[in-house]
Amino acid sequence: MLNLKAYVHALSIPFKLDFAHSQARRQASDSLIVQLSDGEYSGFGEAVAREYVTGTSSSDSTEVATAVRGILDRLPDADDSIDTVLPALLSSHWPAAELPLLCAVEGALLDLLCKRQKVDVYTLLHREPRRRELIYGGTLPILPPPAAEKMLGAYLQAGIPNLRIKLARDTEYNRRILEKARQMMGDDYDLRVDANAAWSVDETVDQLPLLRELGVSLIEEPLGRDWDGMRRIGAVPESGNFCFVADESAVSFQDIEQISQDASFGMINIRLSKHGGLLRSLHMARLAEEHGLSYQLGCHVGETGILSGLGRVAASLMEQPVYVDGSYDRHLLSENIITEDYFFGYGGIASIRRNQAAGYIVDTSKMEKLTSDYYACS
Ligand SMILES: [Mg+2]
Repeated sequence: MLNLKAYVHALSIPFKLDFAHSQARRQASDSLIVQLSDGEYSGFGEAVAREYVTGTSSSDSTEVATAVRGILDRLPDADDSIDTVLPALLSSHWPAAELPLLCAVEGALLDLLCKRQKVDVYTLLHREPRRRELIYGGTLPILPPPAAEKMLGAYLQAGIPNLRIKLARDTEYNRRILEKARQMMGDDYDLRVDANAAWSVDETVDQLPLLRELGVSLIEEPLGRDWDGMRRIGAVPESGNFCFVADESAVSFQDIEQISQDASFGMINIRLSKHGGLLRSLHMARLAEEHGLSYQLGCHVGETGILSGLGRVAASLMEQPVYVDGSYDRHLLSENIITEDYFFGYGGIASIRRNQAAGYIVDTSKMEKLTSDYYACS
């Protein structure tokens, strides 16, 4: 049992713009921050709990506190080494619904151990980054066309090299947005789409001619954990021109087996909170490689600097992520809880950060200001 005091800070950080999503509509980041404390040091980690990703939207404070305590009870005492906890963190027995909170616990533990040992996460994990510079792509949420156009203009001006466009069920909206994006960004620009599990099999097949016409070949999660539906799409000849990306369909390690057997997806979208943290995400990337799947590192809407920081660490340690998304906090959140916001420069280029514990330094006074609910997990 991991014998540390645990607390949860439920955040409410207003977004800079109204964010719409095909299955959720929020005005604020509602991340849960887990704090682990040994009396001398505190470490912090973040969970983005989304019902449509993992089947739970833990917003009840008693439930969250019990779940965090339950996770700690299943982890051995870390002493000064993450190696002791590694087998338990990487166990395939964690239910999908617990993975976001496991991500928060793992982040807090990494942060705490880094502070205790006065090292950064690379040194703690005995791993050197494979790259010191990353290139981030952009995400275009579902927005009214004038707002979408404004955002596309900002991406163009910032030289962002590739874009993920969130699509809706409404074919007319999709056509309008994609035509605008293609026209503004240019013929050779790398555009991909994410349906966020909003389409049926027939709706997916109906979208294919439009996507082909507008030079899109990567389609993320049309259906949402419907293996049979994906097989039916795969049987349609036109689908052969497309690569499907598993997001909601790729949560557990076992999902990778299923996906590679079915050959219905060619890529997976790895997200820290969905997969249960940094170490499980790195493992997921290795499994994908072993099964001949490519992968990208994605993010959750509303992530604070904690998950941006860990995401940057993840992207620097993965062998070959095709795309890296995230580090949007400066653009998306009206305020942050870390000392230095994450963002990227022209061309989406950003450097890794060394000597920052697990990749971020939480500013507790900023966090307290943005905390809507705070409770101990005893
Ligand atoms: Mg997605």
